[in-house]
Amino acid sequence: MNNLEHFNANAFSNTDSTQAATTQLIGHFIQGGLVTKSNRKQAVYNPATGEISKEVALADTQLVNQVVQIAEQAFPAWRDTPVIKRARVMFKFKQLLEENAETLCELIGQEHGKICHDAKGELQRGIENVEYACGAPEFLKGEYSKNVGPDIDSWSEFQPLGVVAGITPFNFPAMVPLWMFPMAIVCGNCFILKPSEKAPSAALYLAELLKQAGLPDGVFNVVNGDKEAVDALLHHPKIQAISFVGSTPIAEYIYRTATSTGKRCQALGGAKNHAIIMPDADIDNVVTSLLGAAFGSSGERCMALSVAVAIGDEVADVVIAKLKQEMQQLKFGNYADTSNDFGPLISQAHKDKVQAYIQSAEQQGAKIVVDGRDAKAVGYENGFFVGPTLIDQISAEMTSYQQEIFGPVLQVIRVETMQEAMQLINDHEYGNGTCIYTRDGEAARYFTNNIQVGMVGVNVPLPVPVAYHSFGGWKRSLFGDLYAYGPDGVRFYTRRKTITQRWPSAQIREAKQFAMPTLN
Ligand code: NAD
Repeated sequence: MNNLEHFNANAFSNTDSTQAATTQLIGHFIQGGLVTKSNRKQAVYNPATGEISKEVALADTQLVNQVVQIAEQAFPAWRDTPVIKRARVMFKFKQLLEENAETLCELIGQEHGKICHDAKGELQRGIENVEYACGAPEFLKGEYSKNVGPDIDSWSEFQPLGVVAGITPFNFPAMVPLWMFPMAIVCGNCFILKPSEKAPSAALYLAELLKQAGLPDGVFNVVNGDKEAVDALLHHPKIQAISFVGSTPIAEYIYRTATSTGKRCQALGGAKNHAIIMPDADIDNVVTSLLGAAFGSSGERCMALSVAVAIGDEVADVVIAKLKQEMQQLKFGNYADTSNDFGPLISQAHKDKVQAYIQSAEQQGAKIVVDGRDAKAVGYENGFFVGPTLIDQISAEMTSYQQEIFGPVLQVIRVETMQEAMQLINDHEYGNGTCIYTRDGEAARYFTNNIQVGMVGVNVPLPVPVAYHSFGGWKRSLFGDLYAYGPDGVRFYTRRKTITQRWPSAQIREAKQFAMPTLN
């Protein structure tokens, strides 16, 4: 029996007798075990075939409240577990993630549709966050100053918050949860994850592996659900902090609600990522890297490059001609076939939306150079596929430029100068990622200094920060003060406490002092 069969057989076994025997019901992971009872449920699709493959249980407020209580009960013992022991759970977890990578990628492929090689990349990026979390004994050491006053020593500790929650999107079913909970847990918190209801299985499998790694029951719980579960978390008085990743309208709602109920919150939202192509750029390299950055994962990445800003018509014409040629070779289809470059979109509704954006660009005067609207994947004609699409002569007023498309669509804007290109980027409401292609160090330095975007690449199309930096955009791509993971993650999941201490000896007795204490 391979790992996946074991997981399907044991972890998802259907305990709801009212459920048809053939449909798998994906439940929750609570107090170290799977719970599948639910009043409400929702279909989970195989996006490559367009068929319903499973169902997911949707937690109600009562269930969320029970889970918060369970996590609260687990907190004191976990908080007081020595940090080296908490880190050892992460060491073991990393090993289990690597050993079971295929199972995880399979689960991601079944529900999200991304090709196995892309799922492996996502998982590896997630594992790097677990590796960073293994350094907790070092990064939680705190700060110490001896003799801040006569016989007085002072230190700062970074204490866990308590019960914290994460709400994650469909497009990275493993990586985005791994941005959050390894750090939260290793810092001594208990964590409740509410994954996307569109791709829920990977989160349950992560929970299973964490249990195998030795995590005590109740420290990490997964509740599947929709708005009801999210609202229950947002309004629960015992939840101390919420990390959210998803679309901007929901991120705004989460941030506003969480902070109004006194919670710490970081809410990462949507994006519109531009690449400036300077006339001196290595055009062949630009074309190759744009293909992956625009169409990889079907464009369903918050760091996908969706707008190429060409400086001058000559650059635009050459890039478009080469892209057009290369795009004929791109293959899309089912996740298991690794000769495919990308897979389907997540749902029929999303496919309709992407097609509507392409149509709106056409209606508003843009030129469709390569049209993927009616493209079909051979053998998967009912899947939620849109083929790679290239649109020229886009302008800033167009709907398809102003909004996030989140599909395999690359739009080209023609401008005359780099200043004009930077103005476009700085004026856009999103500020997640951007990139400049150039051989000119002075231009690159000017760009990195002055562009109003949180993550910037120089000849690097997807400048996703590594796990020991932190991830976050500017403007309406992030709500909150701290970025996700890395050093900002440590600060987000801990609370500083500063202790100032003196042990008076028989010889030293303090005189009465009514002025503010100073060392003068
Ligand atoms: P989404 O906003 O629809 O859903 C994200 C989460 O919010 C899910 O868990 C969902 O159940 C929940 N949710 C949805 N509607 C809700 C509501 N009305 N009230 C409360 N909760 C609700 O996003 P998605 O479609 O799953 O993911 C794609 C989006 O995520 C894109 O906009 C993409 O740019 C963004 N994203 C951003 C980053 C980043 O780091 N900035 C990373 C990945 C994805």
